[in-house]
Amino acid sequence: MELEAKLAILADAAKYDASCASSGAVRKNSLDGKGVGSTGGAGICHSYAPDGRCISLLKILLTNRCIYDCHYCINRRSSNVRRAAFTVEEAVKLTLDFYKRNYIEGLFLSSGIIRNADHTMEQVNAVARTLREVHDFRGYIHLKTIPEASPGLIEEAARHADRISINLELPTQESLDQLAPEKNLGRTKQAMGRIRHRLEEATEQKRDGDKRLRHATGQSTQVIIGADASTDSDFLSRSDELYRSYRLKRVYYSAFSPIPDASGILPPKAPPLVREHRLYQADWLMRHYGFGTSEIVDSARPNLDLDIDPKLSWALRNRHEFPVDVHTAARETLLRIPGLGVKNVDRILSIRRFTKLHLVDLARLRVSLEKVRPFVILADHQPSVLELDSDTLRARFAPKPQQLELFGR
Ligand code: SF4
Repeated sequence: MELEAKLAILADAAKYDASCASSGAVRKNSLDGKGVGSTGGAGICHSYAPDGRCISLLKILLTNRCIYDCHYCINRRSSNVRRAAFTVEEAVKLTLDFYKRNYIEGLFLSSGIIRNADHTMEQVNAVARTLREVHDFRGYIHLKTIPEASPGLIEEAARHADRISINLELPTQESLDQLAPEKNLGRTKQAMGRIRHRLEEATEQKRDGDKRLRHATGQSTQVIIGADASTDSDFLSRSDELYRSYRLKRVYYSAFSPIPDASGILPPKAPPLVREHRLYQADWLMRHYGFGTSEIVDSARPNLDLDIDPKLSWALRNRHEFPVDVHTAARETLLRIPGLGVKNVDRILSIRRFTKLHLVDLARLRVSLEKVRPFVILADHQPSVLELDSDTLRARFAPKPQQLELFGR
């Protein structure tokens, strides 16, 4: 098979993996020979480097052949898709060619499992090793690792890569048993634990002066939402555990997308995209705003409110905590005010050392006054008790009901 045909298959097969934070924008396509600028067919996506820069990556699978049969995956053993595989040399050549032409700044490499986990991991490592050691490739490399692979092979991946990830896929063993019977939550966590340990060792070695040591700086994972009955509480509790116990940099929430030739036990429709968005917001609250999982979801409300963001939802359930005086409140209290982000809280903290804040000051900070007004006390503003207690407060922020069209277009 021609390299270009393989690239089309293996770049397309890799697009379902969200854990390199590829941008979700619909790409324009010039493959019909009209116009210029299509990158979709060549598998180029975007990710964020640790310093916040956006970088373009060649995102491919080494092969879409797989001996596993995960129901939600288009590459599963029983799927009827065209199969292809790059050789190690082909994957290296493609990366270097794209890099030299300035199309990409790095590689995101994943793979279906061929023969067994160790054999697959060896192939993935061989691509990264050849790039680093033979071609002195200094671009970004993100490698997807396989929990069942030998610890030595996962460690080798971490030596060559800037970021490594293991996909958890589903939050509980019961869900895995149903949808990915060959996968095991305990094994995945063990592998994450080993990676955490190795990453910490490498950080210490660097701190002790071994500046030339090349090593991944973090690990991440992806979970698929909406493929089964797992609740937002299941996902967020698991994420909380992964951040605390395994020091993951990110958990990516990927809305299940119906695949061609899908297994009968999958839902026929994708979940609303807003669910993915709300999970990212809740995840952000846990990592940067000091919220505990049980403040966001619990057994009585296992799923997030899709109509309003989780911080606003928490504030409306805890109205007795408001209004907050922005001149005296502690940073962690300010962070809980709907409409105030981390940057604006820090700006408020420095402004209030010198002067009182007014509504116009918040407007200058581009804070949504509409959102913040019921929850804050400012020099020229005190919300009325009636406003804060009003039954209609939630309705002010939720999307307006829409009249259904009689005739769908
Ligand atoms: S192991 Fe990975 S590639 Fe193979 S079927 Fe499962 S999700 Fe797909």
